[in-house]
Amino acid sequence: MSDREQTFVIVGAGLAGAKAAEALREAGFEGRVALIGEEAEHPYERPPLSKDYLRGEVEREKILVHDESFYRRHEIELILDQAAVGLDAERRELELAGGERLAFDRLLLATGASPRRLNVAGAELDGIHYLRDVGSSDAIHARLERGGKAVVIGAGWIGSEIAASARQLGVEVTVIESASVPLERVLGAEVGAVYRDLHLAHGVEMLLGTGVEAFEGSGAVERVRTSDGRTVECDFAVVGIGVSPRTELARAAGLAVDDGIVVDGSLQSSHPAIFAAGDVARQRHPTLGPLRVEHWANALHQGPVAARNMLGCGEPYDRVPYFFSDQYEVGMEYAGLARQWDRVVFRGKPDSHEFIAFWLREGRLLAGMNFNVWDVNEQIQELVAKRPPVEPAALEDPGVALGDLARNRA
Ligand SMILES: Cc1cc2nc3c(=O)[nH]c(=O)nc-3n(C[C@H](O)[C@H](O)[C@H](O)COP(=O)(O)OP(=O)(O)OC[C@H]3O[C@@H](n4cnc5c(N)ncnc54)[C@H](O)[C@@H]3O)c2cc1C
Repeated sequence: MSDREQTFVIVGAGLAGAKAAEALREAGFEGRVALIGEEAEHPYERPPLSKDYLRGEVEREKILVHDESFYRRHEIELILDQAAVGLDAERRELELAGGERLAFDRLLLATGASPRRLNVAGAELDGIHYLRDVGSSDAIHARLERGGKAVVIGAGWIGSEIAASARQLGVEVTVIESASVPLERVLGAEVGAVYRDLHLAHGVEMLLGTGVEAFEGSGAVERVRTSDGRTVECDFAVVGIGVSPRTELARAAGLAVDDGIVVDGSLQSSHPAIFAAGDVARQRHPTLGPLRVEHWANALHQGPVAARNMLGCGEPYDRVPYFFSDQYEVGMEYAGLARQWDRVVFRGKPDSHEFIAFWLREGRLLAGMNFNVWDVNEQIQELVAKRPPVEPAALEDPGVALGDLARNRA
């Protein structure tokens, strides 16, 4: 069958989906490309939703992945405000909420993830927000504009960024986090403490090592009761306790699912015509093993690789995980993956707020993070990709160029 007679469908009009559609056209695919999104919005980027967009500092058009005319110009059929509700993998057919059936030759599932809910007493009260889409960011922005007192539940990346943005808008903030420091699971106690101190310095009240027992109020949330018996008065709450991959369609179609749609090194699912990319994909990474990455760069790069592999390119996805975060006057980038480590080494002093941290296990480098130090992350990625044995002294020494360390390991 020639290209022109084929239909490639992408479910999920987020970053991975939009970049995949772009890559299909870039690769010269001339068949039908349909990009289906349940949101009414054109594909947009989510990182600003907890940062400058949340604070009202950038316009909505600025967060779009492509300008609106892009899809028309490239003959990408954008079907918005329409969820895909059924998938028959054997018949290669997708069912849309409106009842339409769409036959496909290749399918990409780029359905992303949705916020985990906090199921405690009072969870149904008004004024308890979750942040994932532009509508929820608008709602939290409107609430922040009214001022008052916010409780942020969860000091992962999203919770920490919301707390920072809220403080930047002058809102009083209490953070409730079950770990002993923010971001402990990813960064560990030592680096997490840097973020704790950053928030304390900006006037955030941090209730660490405790959870939420209940929300209380009449109609709307008025206070949060913690599991260690405290009561925190508030005007509203925002919950950021992680996300779950949106695997409903894949699961119903009988594809392999295990905390994400299981895909191989080239992002192909257990069905040869179906691929997955972005937050929803659990990939067998060639060097890091099974891995699901919930970050912007992963969606940005996996979408196009999946698209090329739908065309039969057989391109492995082997990038080192990368993410960034901005809080107050601090920006960071992290490359690699450290799940368990035995040592953290610093180049620069953590309390100076300009440093690089490296995570090591048995003398091998697993991950590196630059904190208010710029133009080094590519070198960190290069170095981490090789997971080399390294001398901690060389990592600590600002006189040793990271690029040289990476090159010496080549
Ligand atoms: C507030 C916020 C801040 C973030 N900040 C950062 C950051 O600073 N750094 C970083 O690295 N990462 C950040 N991220 C993570 C990053 O945005 C995600 O990793 C990225 O959006 C994943 O892209 P995706 O295309 O896989 O999924 P998504 O962006 O979630 O897109 C998936 C789309 O699919 C749609 N969909 C799902 N199911 C269906 C269906 N059945 N039918 C039709 N459509 C469907 C969804 O509605 C959604 O629009 C942030 C995320 C959020 C929410």
